[in-house]
Amino acid sequence: MEILKVQNVKKVYQSHKGAKVEALVDINFTVNKGEYIAIMGESGSGKSTLLNILASLDDVTRGEVLLEGVNYKQIQNDELAAFRRQHLGFVFQDFNLLDQFTLKDNIFLPLVLADHSVKEMNAKIKDLASILEIDHLLEKYPYEVSGGQQQRAAVARALITAPSLILADEPTGALDSRSAQELLNLFARFHQAGQTIIMVTHSVYAASKASRVLFIKDGKINSEIHKRDKNEDITQQIFDMQSAAIVQRSRSL
Ligand code: ADP
Ligand code: MG
Repeated sequence: MEILKVQNVKKVYQSHKGAKVEALVDINFTVNKGEYIAIMGESGSGKSTLLNILASLDDVTRGEVLLEGVNYKQIQNDELAAFRRQHLGFVFQDFNLLDQFTLKDNIFLPLVLADHSVKEMNAKIKDLASILEIDHLLEKYPYEVSGGQQQRAAVARALITAPSLILADEPTGALDSRSAQELLNLFARFHQAGQTIIMVTHSVYAASKASRVLFIKDGKINSEIHKRDKNEDITQQIFDMQSAAIVQRSRSL
């Protein structure tokens, strides 16, 4: 079942001096429910721009984005925040937890904003905190726990609303290798349970855990790798695709 459709998306930024930057030229892809997608590409290729557009945080210059059949263009500005809260979960490289809140209050934040009762919230956090192994840390503040633990709290915050789609921008980028491995194991586990995930990453290892890898180059999707079965090791294919892109670029210099 198709959950996300991205059609002919173009994004042009206008700089202060009036110069135009074509961050996305023409992006087309669809995502089925339950897919785990990695997006790779060199710095400046348009990955964050694409993720911000999927997050409905930035609008397109041309083209359409539909999540569960809802066209972003048809959502009124004053309904966007609620739409995001209901349908999307975000995980960032630098966790983005609020320092003045405990982990528990950080995780509850999207539910508080959506007017859930305390009873409901406590019921929802229990299993999630246990899976993420942060149940003993819920009363602590972000600065009192490790980066890996902060990121797991951020994952809990993203998942607590049961979003249609998780968007993650370099989620392992600021983690040590062990915490990164743990985070990827958790993503794999949520993916197994049916969660749809789109993750931007520079890490070949992280991308190799996804079910599909999209390569973005100069604002277009240049190629993709689809796992034939969930145990297939696509590490070498990802390396080859990256090397091909580097060779291509050096020829054009
Ligand atoms: P990536 O995340 O792949 O490194 P970005 O999506 O951040 O790439 O950027 C793609 C291109 O768009 C780059 O050339 C970048 O300089 C430009 N760009 C991104 N955001 C803006 C902005 N707000 N204003 C002007 N140009 C931008
Ligand atoms: Mg980026």
